[in-house]
Amino acid sequence: METSIISFKLGVTSCHLIIGRDIVMVDAGMPGKLKVFKRVLAESRIDPARIKLIVLTHSHFDHCGSAAAIREYTGAKIAIHRSESECVEGDKVLVPKGVNLKGRLTKPLIFAFKIPFKKFTPDILLGDEPYPLNEYGIDGRVVHTPGHTVGSLSVILGTGEALVGCMAHDGFPFRRSPGLPIYAQDIELIKENWNMLLGMGIRKIYPGHGNPFEAGVMKEILKYKS
Ligand SMILES: [Zn+2]
Ligand SMILES: [Zn+2]
Repeated sequence: METSIISFKLGVTSCHLIIGRDIVMVDAGMPGKLKVFKRVLAESRIDPARIKLIVLTHSHFDHCGSAAAIREYTGAKIAIHRSESECVEGDKVLVPKGVNLKGRLTKPLIFAFKIPFKKFTPDILLGDEPYPLNEYGIDGRVVHTPGHTVGSLSVILGTGEALVGCMAHDGFPFRRSPGLPIYAQDIELIKENWNMLLGMGIRKIYPGHGNPFEAGVMKEILKYKS
């Protein structure tokens, strides 16, 4: 099962299309980005109907903002961890802590005003056990990697590529180089999950904000020993 990845931004958020027999999308960006998304598909000559699943790495507005509109346009199903369904169906917001000084200073600006997005009912609620992507013709699985939020998910491919949402931040407006996220409900839990992912032999990391980077960068940050 060969796969390729197309990455693009919907607002400040990095979203991805994993292309196998079907297409699985990871994260749905900021609110109001359907037009940008349509342009990405047109430029890459992708038939929207090939997108069968949208995995939301977590329930924050910058990852779920255009999920309802993209579902309507593509017919894909939306999957999220069951612990965060209330946040996309209703008004609950999981407010993380600032991890570093910048995170502590900017957190109130980002999370105090509940930035609205179109609410929706997810089609698939995932649990703590891995969810295989074979049925979409993709060698990979969704795994529960809590820490940024309680229900944060990552997609791990057989190629060693890891799409980790906000387990990592890189680039404007968060960090100047790849690293741990500047916001997290539990940063120690994120570190534990990084050790788990690095132990699985991942080699390339696609963060929720910023560009992909090599797993070695994270090994160095965490002083990881295999
Ligand atoms: Zn987040
Ligand atoms: Zn984010």
